[in-house]
Amino acid sequence: IMLSAFPVTGDEHHTIGKGLVWRDITKEYEVDKLKSDLISMVSHEFKTPITSIKGSVETILRVDAEWDEEFKREMLTGIHEDIDRIQELVNDWLDISRIDAKAISLDREPVRPSTVVDNAIRKLPKHFASGAKIESTVAESLPFIYGDRVRLGQVLSNLLTNAIRYNERSPHIKISATSDDKYIHISVADNGIGINETHLGKVFDRFYCVDTGRERPSGGTGLGLAICKGIIDAHSGSISVESCEGTGSIFTVSIPKYRGNGGKYEKK
Ligand code: ADP
Repeated sequence: IMLSAFPVTGDEHHTIGKGLVWRDITKEYEVDKLKSDLISMVSHEFKTPITSIKGSVETILRVDAEWDEEFKREMLTGIHEDIDRIQELVNDWLDISRIDAKAISLDREPVRPSTVVDNAIRKLPKHFASGAKIESTVAESLPFIYGDRVRLGQVLSNLLTNAIRYNERSPHIKISATSDDKYIHISVADNGIGINETHLGKVFDRFYCVDTGRERPSGGTGLGLAICKGIIDAHSGSISVESCEGTGSIFTVSIPKYRGNGGKYEKK
């Protein structure tokens, strides 16, 4: 609550009292809090890749002899990964700002659920997903979703990345889908570390990272699931999680079905 005072004047323009205004500034406070959280995230998370790039460049500048091919490859690969990381942070940051401003624009069309899933699996970086077994039983015959294929792909990629990242065994991920009157429900089930009940309700909050007491797996910003939720909310859908610590988690997204043309869609 913000309190402000103003003088109240009478007929003769004499001050005859004081007026008080109470204003509920929760919303402004929340926006300011978001901004300062984002700023601290940027300064904190950007430091690591920037320091690492700087270190590599300094090493390169010190090497005066001809570059050894292997050394060159190693250095440049490292720099490339650091730049990827910065790019990922910037993209997450932009997405969360758009979601917050309710300015996320969706390009909705009828989309085949199995296409979204298959594309997301295919696009996982090879070096990251190579040890993981990913099985999809999403039938091609399922009704179409009405959604933005790029944004839905982003949600699936995020869920798959988490399923691999928060896993201490060899990751085994099962993707399935069902449909009811209104929605297509897509589930991503993993055999990862799971999430303790006390954290379960908070994982969709921005910047929320479960503190496992261990070194945090690299690459997390705590924005991934908040972005997934923002994208699914914008589709008038929902996202939920069930989990058992030590056994695994199941994330389920429910997205409205395409209802035009009796639910049938022929791609032109
Ligand atoms: P992060 O960038 O930290 O991965 P997310 O918003 O994607 O942020 O996830 C928030 C937190 O939820 C993670 O830090 C992690 O602790 C937990 N989490 C997310 N997905 C899983 C999963 N599949 N298994 C176990 N824990 C998970």
